[in-house]
Amino acid sequence: MFRYAPALPALLLSLSLVAQPSGPDKKVADFVDRSLPELVTFYKDLHANPEVSFMEQQTAAKVAAQLRGLGFAVTENLGGHGVVGVLKNGDGPTVLVRTDLDALPVAEQTGLPYASQVRMKDDAGNEVPAMHACGHDLHMTVFTGVARTLTQFKDDWKGTVVMIGQPAEERSGGAIAMLREGLYTKFPRPDYALALHTNATLPAGKVGYTEGPVMANVDAVDITVRGVGGHGALPHTTKDPIVLAAQIVLALQTVVSRQTSPFDPCVVTVGSIHGGTQFNIIPDQVELKLTLRSYSDVVRNNTIEAIKRIIKGTAEAAGVPQDRLPAIKIREPYTPSTVNDVPLTRRLTGVFTRVLGKENVVATPPSTVGEDFSRFGRETPNVPICMYWLGAVDPKKAEESAKAGTGLPSLHSALFAPLPEPAIRAGIRTMSASVMDLLKK
Ligand SMILES: [Zn+2]
Ligand SMILES: [Zn+2]
Repeated sequence: MFRYAPALPALLLSLSLVAQPSGPDKKVADFVDRSLPELVTFYKDLHANPEVSFMEQQTAAKVAAQLRGLGFAVTENLGGHGVVGVLKNGDGPTVLVRTDLDALPVAEQTGLPYASQVRMKDDAGNEVPAMHACGHDLHMTVFTGVARTLTQFKDDWKGTVVMIGQPAEERSGGAIAMLREGLYTKFPRPDYALALHTNATLPAGKVGYTEGPVMANVDAVDITVRGVGGHGALPHTTKDPIVLAAQIVLALQTVVSRQTSPFDPCVVTVGSIHGGTQFNIIPDQVELKLTLRSYSDVVRNNTIEAIKRIIKGTAEAAGVPQDRLPAIKIREPYTPSTVNDVPLTRRLTGVFTRVLGKENVVATPPSTVGEDFSRFGRETPNVPICMYWLGAVDPKKAEESAKAGTGLPSLHSALFAPLPEPAIRAGIRTMSASVMDLLKK
């Protein structure tokens, strides 16, 4: 007994560093812990049964059933397989909480006992593998846990909660489809819109926050470089689109390096180039596929205009006839940048710190990935939005990879395997507390 006594103050000190929830937070934490085994089962079922974008029928039905069972007024099939659940609980503001529903056409290689074996038809009728490689199964599980928590502690808040299951996030069509079909007119218009996204570098149990721009404008661009084909032995009788495409790819590198301020983030990536069939044939055309990333709308527009100038000017310099100049198509809908409302994000960061402790709330740099959650903030008048990061990596694996200097499987990787329990717990506790703070009596 005695010989352990000197260590006691140190032990007490280390315990005091771990956030111990108190008051309402403790009540919620205990409830979440009691709900966790059932929610993890729900998570594993979602993980093993993914559905790709625009095909989320069974997934939407599962989410709708959870909300309906809790007493939400549920509408299904809004903007495809979108689900809307409304819970009115007296006078007060309206908070929207969003989960996405869709999975990716990736063949899972995690070896987990509940790994997906699913192959299914996509919306074009092609057979594809399916995997929740972006953590949307975690989002749905947290969402369900939040719905349970808000219902359980209805006496602690007042106002309206609109909980939505959004289809087709990965293809950037779901949010706009739900809005076009009346999400903000047929249902209570939110004063705030909240969401979280799985993070493949942050340890499970932590959350990350970013004030202002958190994710980028994303554009998918098709360019058809046209020329005049002919015999490979007689290039002077042709307008070679392969040489022209090569010049265009290099010239496009100057959009960021010479036409954009170093203080404005911008990415121009040519991800695909296809043209020609044989050694000795100069083809008629070459197809390029680009992804563009930016944060501001000005940079986005300038980038698109610069690309148009470059492709036209390079083709004209090569003597391509006016009726064969390159064609450009900016795909619709694009994904607008996600800009977190600063006062809202600061308020929620305070809530996260109270709930999880300072050591588990991490300032996170912005990313050039995209998310159509942004659309929920861009309606007129604007709705303040906040999307925060949910740590999902096994802390042991995160530590090992940091020591070894090796990377972890990223989102969309066939090897991405989140650690469910601590991630789900942190997600429900932070999101429930955020909603309850925005709707406090
Ligand atoms: Zn994704
Ligand atoms: Zn995602």
